[in-house]
Amino acid sequence: EIMLQVEHLKVEVGNEIILKDVNLTIGEGEVHILLGPNGAGKTTLLMAIMGMPGYTILDGRIIFQEKDITSLSVEERSQLGIGMAFQKMPTIPGVQLQTLGKLIVEKHKNSISVDEVSEKVNCGSLLNRSIGQGFSGGEAKRAELFQLLLHRPMFSMIDEPESGVDLDNISLVGIALQELFDRKLVRKKKRSGLIITHTGFILDYINAEMGHVLMDGKIICQGNPRDIFSGIKLNGYEACVRCER
Ligand code: ADP
Ligand code: MG
Ligand code: MG
Repeated sequence: EIMLQVEHLKVEVGNEIILKDVNLTIGEGEVHILLGPNGAGKTTLLMAIMGMPGYTILDGRIIFQEKDITSLSVEERSQLGIGMAFQKMPTIPGVQLQTLGKLIVEKHKNSISVDEVSEKVNCGSLLNRSIGQGFSGGEAKRAELFQLLLHRPMFSMIDEPESGVDLDNISLVGIALQELFDRKLVRKKKRSGLIITHTGFILDYINAEMGHVLMDGKIICQGNPRDIFSGIKLNGYEACVRCER
């Protein structure tokens, strides 16, 4: 069964066309990796799938669980089971992280508690602080994973989970991802994901089915994520240009 299908997606940001023609299919229970040079539009793709304002879809469709969600709001997409951890956490002065946590639990009728999840991602000391305010890179990542683990969406998008995270906390990121997609824990629910990463780090924790390389506004190459990583290490993204889809 297909979880997410992106068809001929064309997206404009700030009067510029960033994504020209993106095609992507992610099956139920699959985790895919999104790669590409800086500024290629990886974050833009995730934002467009989430439905964030400012990312205008000019053409194409996004189908989630057989439903066309192209013109739905962020709220509606979130309710359907799409969630995201941002590359740069938004700052919300005056709203404590635990307030957001409780809201997520309430809204998504989740059986997991705020305390249980905050312990898992080591963000207990952040709970009574304003969301994102003065958070270090690693703290922001942990707070983002905290909200994602509480939400536990059917489809999770994670933007560079390991970037800015220090060595003491990097394994926590891996463990959080493992938990989010663990097939044993998931039981009857086959959750899927799309993760942007520049390193192979997360492949040590989760089994990713497929890697996609975004360049020139399109997915120019796809295949086994480990093979793609080693190809890029050897020959750079230029190697992908010559790769047949
Ligand atoms: P990546 O995540 O692959 O590094 P992004 O999706 O963040 O790339 O950015 C893709 C391109 O879109 C970049 O050239 C970036 O400068 C541009 N861009 C992103 N956000 C905006 C914005 N709000 N206004 C104008 N250009 C933007
Ligand atoms: Mg970038
Ligand atoms: Mg980015």
